Amino acid sequence: MNLTWTPQERRFREEVRAFAEAGVPPELRAKVLAHQRLERDDYVRWHNILADRGWGAPSWPKEYGGTGWNALQRLIFEVECFKAGAPRLLPFGLSMIGPVLMKYGSPAQRERFLPRIIRVEDWWCQGYSEPGSGSDLASLKTRAERDGDHYVVNGQKTWTTLAQYADWMFCLVRTDTEARPQRGISMLLLDMRSPGVTVRPIRTLDGGHDVNEVWLENVRVPVENLVGEENQGWTYAKYLLGHERTGIAGLGHCHRELGVLKRMAAQAQSGGRPLLSDPRMRDRISRIEVDIMALEMLLLRVAANNGGTPGPEASVLKIRGSEIQQDLAMLQMEVAGPDAWPYDPEWMFAEADDHGPGPEMAAAAGAGYADMRKTTIYGGTTEVQKGIIARLMLGL
Ligand SMILES: Cc1cc2nc3c(=O)[nH]c(=O)nc-3n(C[C@H](O)[C@H](O)[C@H](O)COP(=O)(O)OP(=O)(O)OC[C@H]3O[C@@H](n4cnc5c(N)ncnc54)[C@H](O)[C@@H]3O)c2cc1C
Repeated sequence: MNLTWTPQERRFREEVRAFAEAGVPPELRAKVLAHQRLERDDYVRWHNILADRGWGAPSWPKEYGGTGWNALQRLIFEVECFKAGAPRLLPFGLSMIGPVLMKYGSPAQRERFLPRIIRVEDWWCQGYSEPGSGSDLASLKTRAERDGDHYVVNGQKTWTTLAQYADWMFCLVRTDTEARPQRGISMLLLDMRSPGVTVRPIRTLDGGHDVNEVWLENVRVPVENLVGEENQGWTYAKYLLGHERTGIAGLGHCHRELGVLKRMAAQAQSGGRPLLSDPRMRDRISRIEVDIMALEMLLLRVAANNGGTPGPEASVLKIRGSEIQQDLAMLQMEVAGPDAWPYDPEWMFAEADDHGPGPEMAAAAGAGYADMRKTTIYGGTTEVQKGIIARLMLGL
């Protein structure tokens, strides 16, 4: 990365790199590098390996069991873990509801929920979007009505990532239908095993099952599971989105996939020579590498200036990060050539070996390309991010 790093920063990077290279179990690494599907246990296993090392909550303050690392350390950690083929850290507990509970949760909520996030004893999911309420989130309709010491929740959430594994959902609900849309929203912590919760899979282009519809029918949520105050949920929701966007550039993912791309191009043959030696291919790979370097420099600047919490620059990071991820997937598919199709979903769940990406991973390149279409939609679409940049950065 940056050549002007201090000796301490270099030492930290070496420490993380050594740990990640030795710490990621080979079979997990093989699955990640070959773009195979990860199951619940795969994620939980990696979180627990980190927790054993004391690194289970890299972005949290020490008082809640975190590392207390600064923004640069967190960035180094992300990149080195991704490069070593580690699964991504689940954001729903660590980067989303965790920080909200630290700032707005009751002492009882903090005590009950925060420690269980670190080892994924509770798997959280995000219940924000609804049919018709994505970019326009404040129009959400899921209703919560007070009945004694419970709320009774009715409605539908959609695109809920990995809800099939979730124990809990942080859920935005409407508690006042008369007020302005933003004023009548509350945030509830909803037990996914409650009667009335139904999770239905949404199959995506790549044949995978990452997202779901969640139906809520007369689900009873104890009043003690209200976050903060009733009808103030929009404030907490925005605070959470600010944390969601900090990691959204996907720098670690970009570095890892650049390595995968180069290895694929070294193995693929063109005219009897490795494709990697083709000047046009080298040019295209170099362009992406330069884009990644520019993204990294922007992230480092944000880390240095704001303690790592981006303002409207988050929208620039989001757009560039998602576009680069799509470019990488596109070029991987081109390198795989006709082998990228037909796509065999069975292969995605097959046993992986530890030889890293081989020619067989061409089979995953088509799926990876289809999967990466999502990056310009989730966490706020590119069009919406451009609107934010126009208003808040360009003053238009
Ligand atoms: C893979 C994936 C995972 C997701 N995971 C979750 C999750 O776990 N939890 C959750 O709550 N949600 C999740 N989402 C939902 C995500 O947040 C929404 O899809 C996103 O906010 C867009 O909303 P929408 O799909 O309703 O599209 P819409 O808001 O209906 O947008 C449709 C189109 O209109 C454009 N548009 C909308 N408003 C504007 C505007 N003001 N200016 C210019 N163009 C505009 C959009 O850019 C888009 O092209 C996920 C989505 C995906 C794809």
